[in-house]
Formats: sequence, structure tokens, C-alpha cells
Amino acid sequence: MAGKFDGKSVIVTGASRGLGKGIAKVFAEQGASMLIVARNENAGSHTVEEIQTAGGVASFCRADVSRWSDVETMVQATMERYGAVHVLCANAGIFPSSPIEDLSEEEWDEVQAVNVKGMFLAVKACLPHMKKQNYGRIVLTSSITGPITGYPGWAHYGASKAAMLGFMRTAAIECAKHNITINAVLPGNIITEGMETLGQEHIRGMEQSIPMGRLGDPEDIGYAALFFASPEAKYITGQTLIVDGGQTLPESEEGLI
Ligand code: NAP
Repeated sequence: MAGKFDGKSVIVTGASRGLGKGIAKVFAEQGASMLIVARNENAGSHTVEEIQTAGGVASFCRADVSRWSDVETMVQATMERYGAVHVLCANAGIFPSSPIEDLSEEEWDEVQAVNVKGMFLAVKACLPHMKKQNYGRIVLTSSITGPITGYPGWAHYGASKAAMLGFMRTAAIECAKHNITINAVLPGNIITEGMETLGQEHIRGMEQSIPMGRLGDPEDIGYAALFFASPEAKYITGQTLIVDGGQTLPESEEGLI
């Protein structure tokens, strides 16, 4: 495949399914060499096969982003296979639901470990390589939940997604003089395997709160990530882009289905 990202290598964490898979497909269509990262090798290999069947370049690396040794391995694998780390899409995340009174310390810690620490470790591991080549594009998958909205049962998750933006703003300043940008996509509600585990009732309720009347596709997040990593966005850093079909806009139910 030839495109805008020919010669660029891109790591996508949490790319075995859902948003990460959508992001990986969009970059691969533009000629990038993809490192597909997840814990489950079977599912990750499916993503690799799908990209290869469509004519793209992809390989799998097993890593739990909450473990430093795994994340180091992920970056080493990218260097060995593709010779550089140009783009990091720190997307892996979990969203178990629990009201605050029932939320255990363990569940709180797990969500922060994957969503916040996992992002930090991935960025930390990529930075030495990006600095050396004086080029890097980092795109975080945050959420509307936390930075913009609240949702009962997701206090721990919302806290983690808002924390990602706090990290991003300082990281953007530290990285700026090295020609490394870091930005975040804030998805609304997107159809993914993870979203489907929340049930059809949840999904129908969401559809009714979205002015466009439907959930987004994983590729919608991929196109936003692609923009942040594109040459056209080279002067944009520390910024957010909401991709939610208008979900965060309504003041009332008027205009909703
Ligand atoms: P998903 O369908 O559950 O997929 C999650 C992906 O992350 C899988 O590939 C999973 O693979 C991987 N993953 C989970 N824990 C990991 C870990 N410790 N280390 C490495 N990989 C890990 O979820 P999704 O809906 O695509 O969500 C992806 C991201 O988008 C998350 O950060 C989520 O917060 C964010 N988001 C989603 C929505 C939405 O509507 N779907 C909205 C806003 C934000 P393994 O289990 O094999 O590791």
C-alpha cells in the first residue's frame, strides 16, 4: 500500500480489536508499517492478518502496557523490525463499571495502571528514539468521559482519562523542541467489542443521546489520529479533538431522537 505514511512505523497499543484495530487499519491504508500490540496473541494476529490481506504491513507484539519490561520489548521490537519509531498511538484501555461505594481499591488501581501508567510507560519508552531522530508523533486515546462528561459507574475511568490530558500538556512542552507532538483524541461512544460487553440497552441509550443518532466507527477515531500524526498537523501539540457525533453538545433533548 502506498500513501502519506510510506516509510513510517507506527505502534498502536490495544490494537487487537476495537478502536486500536480501527486506528491501525487507517494508518496501514496510508502505507505505514504497523506494530499491533495487545496481550492476547490470537486476537492480535487476526488484526495483523486483516491488514496484510488488505496489502498492508503489520506484525504483532505481545505486551501488557502496565509492565515496563513489556513496553521496553514493544519498542525494541519496533526498532528491530522497522528501524525507527515514528508514531505512537497509546490507545490500550479498560472500562469496567462500578459505582464508587462498590469500587474496590484493586479495581481503581487496575484502571489507573492500564489507562494512565500504561500510557506513560509507552510514551517514556518511545521518547529516547523519537528524540534521537528529532521526530515523533504521539496520539493518546482519552475519552469524553472524565475530561468533558461524567457517567455513573465510571468515576475511576473518568479520572484516568482526565489524567491522560494532564500528562499530555506537560509532555507536549517537554517534547516540543525535539519536534515531537503529543495530542489526544476524545472519542464519544464508538462501536467496539468492549462497548458491546456493556449490552444492547446501554448502546440504545447512547444512540438516543447522540445528535447523529448512532455510535461512531473505530475508523472515525483512526482518521482523527491520522490527522494528528500528519504533516498538516506539525504545529499542533498538547491539544484535544472530540469525535462524538455531537454527543457533548445538547443543552436539552430537543433535536434528539
Ligand atoms: P476494547 O474493544 O475492549 O479493546 C481494548 C484493547 O486494549 C484490546 O486490544 C485489548 O487487548 C487491549 N488491552 C487491554 N488491556 C491491555 C493491557 N494491559 N496491555 C495491552 N493491551 C491491553 O476497547 P475499545 O472500546 O476499543 O477502547 C479502546 C480505547 O478507547 C480505550 O482506551 C478506551 O478507554 C477508549 N475509548 C473507547 C470508547 C468507546 O466508545 N469504545 C470511548 C472513549 C474512549 P488484550 O485484552 O488482548 O490486551
